[in-house]
Amino acid sequence: MESRVRIVPINAMDGGFLDRLALCLEERFLASARVERTLVVPRSALNATRRQLFLSTIVSKVRRAHPEEAGVLLAITDFDVYKTSHRFIFGDADEAQGVAVVSLHRLRAEFYGEEPDENMLFQRALKECVHELGHAFGLKHCFNARCAMYYSNSIFETDNKMPYFCETCDKRMSRARNERS
Ligand SMILES: [Zn+2]
Ligand SMILES: [Zn+2]
Repeated sequence: MESRVRIVPINAMDGGFLDRLALCLEERFLASARVERTLVVPRSALNATRRQLFLSTIVSKVRRAHPEEAGVLLAITDFDVYKTSHRFIFGDADEAQGVAVVSLHRLRAEFYGEEPDENMLFQRALKECVHELGHAFGLKHCFNARCAMYYSNSIFETDNKMPYFCETCDKRMSRARNERS
């Protein structure tokens, strides 16, 4: 997997938010990160009864839109996403396809009946993006609840972790990076 990240916004999304995300991810992964053109996914692509987007649907759409991309494609969507045997997911990564997906749907304060908070949303999104890209670059889950590779199943767990890797995961990451170069 090449150390290159291509952020693919699903439908209209705040450009400033995505640029800021790209900068932070470049710094974390020592990889070039760029925002690609928007990929339009109509609401008709959602599962009609769940009103959620199925993970595999989005992974294949993103891969089909960028068939030649050798780096990791990171799709960011406002749709609520689910996968088989999961009621919802904050995100996921398909290592074989080189596609990571992060949903902002349940990262927004509004989802929990709170006032919108752009900065909080950014911090949460950054943590989930670092987590999924970590998977895309070969990292597994970590038992350190503060580490970005900790598996969070609730927003409390996301808020409790850091947008960084712990020392152990950091070492694994640099080892993986050296193997690639
Ligand atoms: Zn994970
Ligand atoms: Zn860790």
